[in-house]
Amino acid sequence: MCRVIAIANQKGGVGKTTTSVNLGIGLARAGKKVLLVEADAQGSMAVSLGIREPDELDATLVNIMEKVINDEDIEPGEGIIHHEEGVGFIPANIELAGLETALVNVMSREMVLRQFINNIRVDYDFILIDCMPSLGMITINALVAADSVLIPVEAAYLPVKGLQQLIKTIGRVHRKLNPMLSIMGILFTKVGRRTNFARDIAEQIREAYGNQVHIFDNCIPLSVRAAETSAEGKSIYLRAPKGIN
Ligand code: ADP
Ligand code: MG
Repeated sequence: MCRVIAIANQKGGVGKTTTSVNLGIGLARAGKKVLLVEADAQGSMAVSLGIREPDELDATLVNIMEKVINDEDIEPGEGIIHHEEGVGFIPANIELAGLETALVNVMSREMVLRQFINNIRVDYDFILIDCMPSLGMITINALVAADSVLIPVEAAYLPVKGLQQLIKTIGRVHRKLNPMLSIMGILFTKVGRRTNFARDIAEQIREAYGNQVHIFDNCIPLSVRAAETSAEGKSIYLRAPKGIN
């Protein structure tokens, strides 16, 4: 059975895209059928997967969502690019920002992505949706399309307000639009080894949210090599096969 996971946090730079790409490729290496969907106008997932100029792409998530809105047929496999490391992906670019604005006038505007995802679930074990750094209509579409949400948190400062807002939004989507939605957990990213600071913040988040939200014991270390992968269009498995520590 396919699991659809939205990777979300309205703060930018916390590792959503890096987590989506490397988790997806990791799952593919473990033999799973994986689709990565970029729900971010920045196109950074496309870049991480080797596309140099996402804004020049003709086929993106935008075309697919437009077809859903206009009740047009979508061919099997349409818009899906195959990456050499074993995942399929649907990139996005700056046009997604325009679509977000246009969605205001669309009937069932929160359901557009879900309609598409539900039709392709049968083809995959995992569909990971890399969200944009906002809680706007495209992110709501991702939360409505997903079964669960993975929340990367950069433990370099105390993001309590933002986290509260995110968890509240997820709760609202759960109650009003997608009763199947659950929170998988908080994943600490970019954790520096030398500072107690990150550990203190992680501890505070555990205290504040630990009985409400699962917090993964494993965390992602801060690593230059992790940062380099995004620029090179390769996963961490190719870039640093022995690990990033
Ligand atoms: P988001 O999608 O949340 O905006 P990204 O995944 O794009 O975040 O990461 C933001 C920046 O941090 C990128 O330049 C990326 O290369 C870098 N980065 C991500 N993970 C790590 C890590 N574990 N260590 C160091 N740098 C990282
Ligand atoms: Mg991103």
